[in-house]
Amino acid sequence: MEWWEEPWRQTAACKEAPKRIFYPSTGVSHMPALEYCNRCTVADECRDFAIRNNETLGIWGGMSAKSRNGIRPKLTDIEVARRRRLQYHAKKEDDRADTAVL
Ligand code: SF4
Repeated sequence: MEWWEEPWRQTAACKEAPKRIFYPSTGVSHMPALEYCNRCTVADECRDFAIRNNETLGIWGGMSAKSRNGIRPKLTDIEVARRRRLQYHAKKEDDRADTAVL
């Protein structure tokens, strides 16, 4: 099954995003891609797919190729990406709560 056919792709934050930002050229920031990944609800599935399929290029699951290459990424890399997403969602919740009070 190709990545775009995976069921988790249907709810991916990057579903309509330009694909090129997930494959930045040398010297180009990864941050635009990570902005999507940090708020993505299927980042774990995405990362696992990339690892299982030995994707050696691009940003998957909030991780660069460098983070994924050669490993089955270290637990710390996975945990860092997961925590970054949790922090993003917690901040969004806080922002929503602040807005609701006003
Ligand atoms: S984790 Fe990132 S690359 Fe993967 S589906 Fe979500 S937004 Fe797209």
